[in-house]
Amino acid sequence: MDERKIRARLEAERERLLGVRRHLLGDPETTADLASVGELSNYDQHPGDIGSEVFEHEKNASILEQVDAQLGEVDAAFERLEKGSYGSCEVCGNPIEATRLEERPFARFCLEDQRRVEREAGLPGSTA
Ligand SMILES: [Zn+2]
Repeated sequence: MDERKIRARLEAERERLLGVRRHLLGDPETTADLASVGELSNYDQHPGDIGSEVFEHEKNASILEQVDAQLGEVDAAFERLEKGSYGSCEVCGNPIEATRLEERPFARFCLEDQRRVEREAGLPGSTA
């Protein structure tokens, strides 16, 4: 595995997340690809008139939570890289699929275990 490439990937991911964060916190200079954060494909669906401001606020707060969580995952991935355990599934120890690491450079689990963890946590959908 090419450690420099992995670092570059993780740093790019961190930059992207920080950009989204700044955008959510109201920096007008920042444009962010909000749809790329987790399961946010319905971000653009506007709820209508009354209460939409509250709705926007709550939606942003929950996106912010996801972004913060993912930033934590990026930090954890850097730590795993230091320890030499990066790229191995934390559950079964098998190597995490390369294509998966390209999409989610901070992935902790192989696809199979990720699905299982999500099922057990009762989360909707897949973050893979
Ligand atoms: Zn696994």
